[in-house]
Amino acid sequence: MNNNEFQIATVPGDGIGKDIINSAISIVDLSSEIIGGFKCNWENINAGAEYFAQEGCDVEPGGEDRISNADSIFLGAIGLPTIRHKDGTEVCPHLRFREMFGLYAGVRPVKAYPNITNRLSNKLASNIDLVILRESTEGLFYTAAVHNRCPVDNNDEVQDIMRITRKTTEKLHDFAFKLARQRKSKGKLGKVTCVDKANVFRSQALFRKIFDERKENFKDIEAEHCYVDAMALNLIRNPWEYDVMVMENMFGDILSDLGGGLVGGMGMASCAEIGDNHGLFQPAHGSAPDIIGQNKANPLATILSSTLMLDYLSDKKGCKSASEGSKLIEAAIEIGFKRNELRPIEFGGDMGTKAVTEKLITLLKDKNVQNEVLT
Ligand code: ATP
Repeated sequence: MNNNEFQIATVPGDGIGKDIINSAISIVDLSSEIIGGFKCNWENINAGAEYFAQEGCDVEPGGEDRISNADSIFLGAIGLPTIRHKDGTEVCPHLRFREMFGLYAGVRPVKAYPNITNRLSNKLASNIDLVILRESTEGLFYTAAVHNRCPVDNNDEVQDIMRITRKTTEKLHDFAFKLARQRKSKGKLGKVTCVDKANVFRSQALFRKIFDERKENFKDIEAEHCYVDAMALNLIRNPWEYDVMVMENMFGDILSDLGGGLVGGMGMASCAEIGDNHGLFQPAHGSAPDIIGQNKANPLATILSSTLMLDYLSDKKGCKSASEGSKLIEAAIEIGFKRNELRPIEFGGDMGTKAVTEKLITLLKDKNVQNEVLT
C-alpha cells in the first residue's frame, strides 16, 4: 500500500461509540478530499460489550490480527455497565489492546476553546492548553488489564499492585520530553511536570528517579515534579501554568477526567495511545449509556482524536498532507467555537451529534477556514 493510503482498523464499539465514530469518519474523509494527498481505508471490526453479549467473545474472530496489521486503530467507545464478566468487571478488550500492542503513551490533550463556559472563573482559564501523558500498560492498572494477575484474590481479600518498570518508564519520559519540545516549537510552554507519589510508594520513587535521569538529555525543556495530590489542587488553581504532565496509569485516569471537566466536559476529551509500532485513537470518555440513541453525544472528542491519528500517520508514513488534514479539522473546530457556530448540547447549546457534524462539514468547506491552514 502507498505511503499516503492508510489502513485503519475501525472499532465502533458500544453505546454512543457507534454514532460518534461515523461522524469522525465523515469529517476525516472530507478533510482528505479538500487537502488531497492522503486516503483512509476504514476496516470495520466488531468488538465490545454488545458483541460479547451476542457472540460470547469480545472481539470478532481474527479481529486482533487485523488490528495488529493496520496502520492505526480507531475506536468509538467500549463497555456497558449492564454487560459484565463473571468477576463483575466490564467487557474491555481495549485494555487488552494496550497490553498486546505495548501502547504505553496515553496522550490526553486538555485545551480550552472559545465560548465554552469555563468551569473556572479566572480569566486565565481560557489559556488552558496542556497534555496529560498517562502511562497505559502498567502502574495500578497492571492487574486490571488482564484478569488473572491479582497476587491475592479471594472472598476476604483482593490485592492490586502498582507496577513500574525501567524499560517502559524510560520510553514514557522520553516521549514526554519530545512532545514538550514539539509543542515548544509551536509556541507552547515547553515544560514537563512529573506527577507522582514518590514520598510514599517505592514504585513511584523509581518513576521519579528515572524522570531525573532522562531529563538530562533534554536540557532545552523545563522539568519539574509535583505530587499527585498537590496536582489535583493545582489543576483547579492554576492549570494554565502546565504543559506536558507525565504520570502512571491510575493517576492519569483520574486527572484526565478532571482535565476534561476543566474545559467543558468529556465530549472534548481526545486521546491517543501510542506504542513503538502501533497507535490507538479514541475519545477519553466511555460509551455514555445515559444518552445512548438520543442524538445528544458531542462527537468532538472523537473528531479531535482523529486529528491526533492523522498527525501520527503523517509521522509514521512520512505523509505531510495527513498532518495538514489534521490542522484543517482543528482550525475548523477552533473557528467554529470562536464564531459561536458550534454549540453542543453538552455545554448547554442546541446542537446534537448530527448538527455538530453538519456544521463542522460547512466549516471545513469554508474558504476562510481553509485559508488559515493552506496559506
Ligand atoms: P468509562 O469508565 O468507560 O470511561 P464512564 O463511566 O467514566 O466511562 P462516560 O461514559 O465517560 O462514563 O460518561 C460520563 C458522563 O459524561 C456521562 O454523564 C455521559 O453522558 C457524559 N459524556 C460522556 N461522553 C460524552 C459525549 N461525547 N457527549 C456528551 N456527554 C458525554
